[in-house]
Amino acid sequence: MGSTASIRRDHLSFSLNDVYRSTGTRFRLHVQSPVLTGFEEPETVWVSSPRGSLGPGPSDARMYTLQPIEKDHYEGEAQPPYRGKVVPPPLPDRYGHFDHLKPGDQAFQCAHMFGAVRRVLDIWEMYLGGPIPWSFAFTNPRLELIPYVPWNNAHFGWGFMECGEGKDDQGVKRPFALNFDVIAHETGHGLLFSIVGLPTPGTMTTAYRGFHESASDCIALVSALHFDSFVDHVLRACKGNLYAENEMNRIGELSKSREIRDASNATKMSDVVSIDTPAKDITGKQLHALGQPLTGAVFDIMVEFYLDRLVEKNLIAADQIATIRTAVMRDEVDATDMTFVERAYAREPAGFRAALCEARDMIGYRLAESWRRLTPVGFSYEKFAVMLLDVDAGLSGARHRQMILESFEWRGISAN
Ligand SMILES: [Zn+2]
Repeated sequence: MGSTASIRRDHLSFSLNDVYRSTGTRFRLHVQSPVLTGFEEPETVWVSSPRGSLGPGPSDARMYTLQPIEKDHYEGEAQPPYRGKVVPPPLPDRYGHFDHLKPGDQAFQCAHMFGAVRRVLDIWEMYLGGPIPWSFAFTNPRLELIPYVPWNNAHFGWGFMECGEGKDDQGVKRPFALNFDVIAHETGHGLLFSIVGLPTPGTMTTAYRGFHESASDCIALVSALHFDSFVDHVLRACKGNLYAENEMNRIGELSKSREIRDASNATKMSDVVSIDTPAKDITGKQLHALGQPLTGAVFDIMVEFYLDRLVEKNLIAADQIATIRTAVMRDEVDATDMTFVERAYAREPAGFRAALCEARDMIGYRLAESWRRLTPVGFSYEKFAVMLLDVDAGLSGARHRQMILESFEWRGISAN
């Protein structure tokens, strides 16, 4: 172990609401679809924007929301800033907050999109220790946010993010501007261009594109875990046992969270298209699959951090954790009695919640720092794995080394 500061960073865990409650701006965000039990009402959160600093839209010095009366999604020559007619923008309340708008109103969608992007920025700026400037700032100083265009997709592009709508897992058409997973994933792409760097045509490889999809999903997952209601929901659904594969699938069914479902996958590099395929020949579907082994490895590492924290907090004995690990390695999760986890969780849910929040911030900080040290030039999954090991070693010494190595190797990603 290193200095006091590094020990503190090793188990860094923070609540953004606590950090910004006295100075920030209130928004109400849907971390999951409102049709799900427990998520009917949006959750009130505090974002970092100083109270009273946000203008109509909402808007500030780095981004602005506008709702065009009629506009197709950006493609080809069409670029921001949008100069057509817009609907009147929502205003803050007299204290500067945006939590007074009614869910279902167009104005709420505008605030939801801005608040969700700001929330994701707050999380990753906390991990990186400072503001993350836009990669496109030299031509477009501000990000344009468009909550609705008639389109069945959402995308982040040069100086803009815009949302269409799509059917959720219940088959109901919903605006993506109200879908935190989608907004966080798209914001993730934007952040990665800033943190890792903008690829040139020469460095835009299949490996870098697969990594981008995976890392954006990781950003969405870690960001969702910053909502109290989501953390509690995940733990309740799996009764504290994040490693029980069948329970994890049930979370997927219950929460319909794309990221959770994809994150707990069993995909290996041998199951997906070759990483040497030229970037231009990859289909969207193949690209998404290519991100899966990497996302799965990161998720497994986060779950291991979680188990490690449970032992440290004396909530589960080390030999009991060994039972879980053996079952997972032998693919015998269903046949193994792990009710001891459920019993421990029922006794002390608050301890399990703290363990998951610490694991979330351990992986979040390590990811952000690894990305900061990487560039698109010569990027490979192996380089990412080695960097994550390096960053972890700087924080925790050799404690997690073997586990991280094995998590990547099981996926077919060598970190040696
Ligand atoms: Zn994407």
